[in-house]
Amino acid sequence: MKRIKMLTTGGTIAMQSNPETGVVEPIEGHHMTSWLDHSSSIDMEDVFNKPSPHLTFADLHLLLGKVKANLDDPQIDGIVITHGTDTLEETAYYLDLHLSVGKPVVLTGAMRSSNQIGSDGPTNLVNAIRTAASPGAAGKGVLVVFQDEVHAARYVTKTHTSSLSSFKSPEFGPIGYVEKLQAVFHYKPRPQEDYPAPAEMKSVYIVKTAIDMDSAMIDFLITRGICGLVIEAFGQGNVPPTLMPGIKRAIGANIPVVLVSRCGSGRVQDTYGYEGGGHSLKELGVMFCNHLNGPKARIKLASLLAVTTDQAAIRDAFEAEASMPE
Ligand code: ASP
Repeated sequence: MKRIKMLTTGGTIAMQSNPETGVVEPIEGHHMTSWLDHSSSIDMEDVFNKPSPHLTFADLHLLLGKVKANLDDPQIDGIVITHGTDTLEETAYYLDLHLSVGKPVVLTGAMRSSNQIGSDGPTNLVNAIRTAASPGAAGKGVLVVFQDEVHAARYVTKTHTSSLSSFKSPEFGPIGYVEKLQAVFHYKPRPQEDYPAPAEMKSVYIVKTAIDMDSAMIDFLITRGICGLVIEAFGQGNVPPTLMPGIKRAIGANIPVVLVSRCGSGRVQDTYGYEGGGHSLKELGVMFCNHLNGPKARIKLASLLAVTTDQAAIRDAFEAEASMPE
């Protein structure tokens, strides 16, 4: 029988809906032990009990330490982490970025609290455990399991505010699915990057583009002394011309500027030559990042900045690694 370490961190999967008010709230203790089937031997540890919007990088660093310690334990075959869904993809990617995972590490959560009709917590948890115990789950990076699907941390995102099938990998699809007894896999994501885990992440902000937007936000962030900037550009990687002066000032202040698309899938490229088009951004020195959304690109940039200020190395880390599945 496989031995799985389960680490709980809070989120809706551990919350209850108040029958009088209908408000979903954290509770003391949770009912997850009663959901376990006996297909694996589970050792459960409550790491914290927080709604996921309350999590900090310090929390993620602590969780990473727990995961590493358990991965080093020869008694443990795999790890399951329960987590709030709002920021689950960020924690999954953070772990993916800072771990060289030889054993399965699987995150899951629930869109409905444990006492709501049709709660997805029990099924997701049992599926996550089955995935962590599956022979094919090792060596595929950190995984995320929801609604019988297995997703790679790098590609998955929460796409719906309330649907049980909120978690999707818009660009490449799930990497596998969970059958009655085990998970089976369609493809393997790119090998993980394994960055040193900094105790303190550097301050990186995200600016999302919108029509007729000027540089005020970027200029404000420069005055705050930020270390890095991620821009969620239009389409293939274009911004309003009125954002260009701010981007120039950020680059002039030695702040690395990373470009992702607000589309959520597809690549950013130096296709358009007009002012604010991808070509003009590339010429300015903006770094292009593909297959990561804004929050994940922020995590990668904040991690890189904690270990290097070498802009060429940072550019390589974004542009040389295309993140496509194998
Ligand atoms: N707001 C909740 C959280 O992320 C949502 C959830 O867990 O589904 O903690």
